[in-house]
Amino acid sequence: MKNHYYNVAIIGGGISGAALFYELARYTDIDRVAIFEKYSKIAPLNSNARHNSQTLHMGDIETNYTFEKAKKVKETAKMLLNYALNSGFEDRYIFKYPKMVIGVANEVELIEKRYEKFRELYPYLKLFKREELKKIEPSLVEGRKENIVAMGALDQYCAVNFGEIAKSMIDKALTLKKGFSLYLNSEVYSIEQKGNKYMLNTPGGYFFADFVVVNAGAYSLLLAHEMGFAKELSCLPIGGSYYYAPSSLLNSKVYTVQNEKLPFAAIHGDPDISERGKTRFGPTALALPKLERYKESTYIDFLHSFNPDSKVIGVFYDLLKDHDIREYIFKNMMYEVPGIRKSLFLKEVRKIVPKITEEDLEFAKNVGGLRPQIIDKAKKKLLLGEAKIEPMKGLIFNMTPSPGATSCMGNAFKDMVSIADYLSSRIDMGLLEEELLKDPLHTLDLKTV
Ligand SMILES: Cc1cc2nc3c(=O)[nH]c(=O)nc-3n(C[C@H](O)[C@H](O)[C@H](O)COP(=O)(O)OP(=O)(O)OC[C@H]3O[C@@H](n4cnc5c(N)ncnc54)[C@H](O)[C@@H]3O)c2cc1C
Repeated sequence: MKNHYYNVAIIGGGISGAALFYELARYTDIDRVAIFEKYSKIAPLNSNARHNSQTLHMGDIETNYTFEKAKKVKETAKMLLNYALNSGFEDRYIFKYPKMVIGVANEVELIEKRYEKFRELYPYLKLFKREELKKIEPSLVEGRKENIVAMGALDQYCAVNFGEIAKSMIDKALTLKKGFSLYLNSEVYSIEQKGNKYMLNTPGGYFFADFVVVNAGAYSLLLAHEMGFAKELSCLPIGGSYYYAPSSLLNSKVYTVQNEKLPFAAIHGDPDISERGKTRFGPTALALPKLERYKESTYIDFLHSFNPDSKVIGVFYDLLKDHDIREYIFKNMMYEVPGIRKSLFLKEVRKIVPKITEEDLEFAKNVGGLRPQIIDKAKKKLLLGEAKIEPMKGLIFNMTPSPGATSCMGNAFKDMVSIADYLSSRIDMGLLEEELLKDPLHTLDLKTV
């Protein structure tokens, strides 16, 4: 039984679990930590490069972020960027591309104003007018009659293979500490409190831990519900699909302006780092009644974690009474329907590349994961960011829709502080500051057009 006891147990081997596993190994004196992943490999679901947008969200080109949110995102993105650069992952798992958000017609003023404000936070930002854009990314301008402007940078790290980074974090932690263990094919069926410990039921038997962190993506809330916690929250899984086009169409990460009324980020186009030679457009946003995108048997789990009642219906009623949101939901459903989806989605893509044709586009099969969005029934609100539940000492559940992969090291840091406090362990803050909190962005974007 001795081998089945750990100081900390982490449930879920996506990038959130991997980041915590690594930080505990590298920056604390905690000796025994186990990570449980239900599948046979690390990052099989949303953290896998096929299933997310591969964007290191810095907050500079995301118009769905306020200035305050951008500031926070930048700090936590910096930690992942430092980790990747310290590990020598340039051009392997982290890449530089030109990146920008475009404003078209009546959005031009918004981009110009945002540029004036956001350059305080991101000194490398530049404003690109039509003539400069013609040289940087001609396909944005060709065939476009409306006015266009873009705000962005030419030489910043912005694309990440989060799945490969997750694997590297787990490998490093296993090398650093002998008492750290990885259990693959190990679904945690249940968590039970036993005195001052928690007991995890797994295919390999029972495991015990002083502290448990659940980083199980869309399953985190279900595991909390099964323990009787967070019944006031509901999980609404939002699937995102992509379309491929030839890589000759775009060399940059190009985001579009967010419609303030819509709950999910506007589409973007960018080079795919896992399918070289292809440009991706997306993601779409489609509510789906399951907890894993490509596994039908998760419908029942969805029903348990959706936890429907009159308050959830109230949230939907509030959303659906807005004409723009109704149209958006309907359009996104149609983007999945074979036969008509390509021609419908083409209109979206033409906002980025006006001259793209239907023949250029191809639905990307089995690409795109699920974002576990949370509905707060008490506040009657759909929450758009990440959520953390700490119902009792020694137990944390994390829900991580976008930009959860970018902020994995910041989220892990918060959990590491709670764990160290509870277990009276030491964090080597000096080492952490030196390695993860330095400013890798000090270099201005000096490339000129
Ligand atoms: C379409 C889309 C685009 C996105 N784009 C971006 C982006 O560009 N940038 C960004 O930062 N973020 C993006 N995100 C969000 C990002 O993908 C997630 O925030 C991140 O991958 C979450 O990581 P995670 O480890 O928390 O969850 P996951 O990657 O979902 O991992 C959870 C793991 O837990 C395991 N698990 C579940 N239940 C159990 C159990 N009972 N026992 C053991 N294991 C279990 C699962 O098998 C899984 O491996 C996007 C998401 C989607 C869907």
